[in-house]
Amino acid sequence: MRARYNRLLMYLYGAPFRMATNLRIRWLAMAIAALGLLAASAVARADGHGVEPLAVEEIAPGVFAHRGHEQTPSRANVGDIANIGFVVGAEAVAVIDSGGSPTIGERLLVAIRQRTELPIRYLINTHVHFDHLFGNGAFRDEGAELVAHARLQGALMSRADTYLARFEEMVGPEEAERVVMLPTDIPVSERLELELGGRVLEVVAYHTAHTNNDITVLDRQTGTLFAGDLVSLNHIPVLDGSVLRWLEVMDQLAEIPAARVVPGHGPITAPWPDAMEPQRRYLEGLVSEIRALQQARGTIQQAVGEVGQEAAGHWLLFEEYHSRNVTAAFAELEWE
Ligand SMILES: [Zn+2]
Repeated sequence: MRARYNRLLMYLYGAPFRMATNLRIRWLAMAIAALGLLAASAVARADGHGVEPLAVEEIAPGVFAHRGHEQTPSRANVGDIANIGFVVGAEAVAVIDSGGSPTIGERLLVAIRQRTELPIRYLINTHVHFDHLFGNGAFRDEGAELVAHARLQGALMSRADTYLARFEEMVGPEEAERVVMLPTDIPVSERLELELGGRVLEVVAYHTAHTNNDITVLDRQTGTLFAGDLVSLNHIPVLDGSVLRWLEVMDQLAEIPAARVVPGHGPITAPWPDAMEPQRRYLEGLVSEIRALQQARGTIQQAVGEVGQEAAGHWLLFEEYHSRNVTAAFAELEWE
């Protein structure tokens, strides 16, 4: 039975799927694939045996977080590179990001079930990057509703093929063929409160910043802010939206009355809003150096070679993402 569903997934995610150009058809294909995987994963983990629970830490009462590796996705880390977590209320649980692969999602679910049998009411995705949501499939079986920025589904649809291809290359085909992309049940365009029983999570959607579909999740009871990749620590910030507007959003974030933040990458808990400072310096540095270079009629190639090089020692994965950040910021600022 399992093999049959895997074949179905391969078909849907293989060449015939990629050739489907009509986006609606593609989305339908994803939904059908999701149903297939639900049945398959129910068989695979009916009793949870053999699935190692993901390491999580209770960073505040009822708030749990897992620290992903500050690496690029690989076979060795099984895509476990993002910080993810969950919050337990009196009646229900909310999961905030599901991890970067089906295996990590399943391991997170086992970690939750070691701590509570309460229903998982919500699965929240902080943004579209696959290191935060390729574990989603593990949770639909639980009846969780998917909460995300109103623009996430469109972003995911337009990137589905690229993401899967990259993921397969980096993490391997065994994981890739089990990936499920779920449609959003509760789109957020401004703000929303989620009730977990005596505990309310506040979800806020932002305009384009790190991506065009970032949200934050605040647990009011403990003042814990899950910031997704709007806040990155140690791991270099990754610009996939607008550098200028990201800086604006950071001013808005600084107003949130939180005691601590769970950044998308780096240590799972850090003081708020101080944790944003290194990132602010980095992004402000990009803007000012690129503007100066553009005023001197410098080229994008020069910018890539020169801008922000002094930040190299301060960030992990600088080599992997810095040039891309400069290129994106240069293009944006050129049109000012
Ligand atoms: Zn990330």
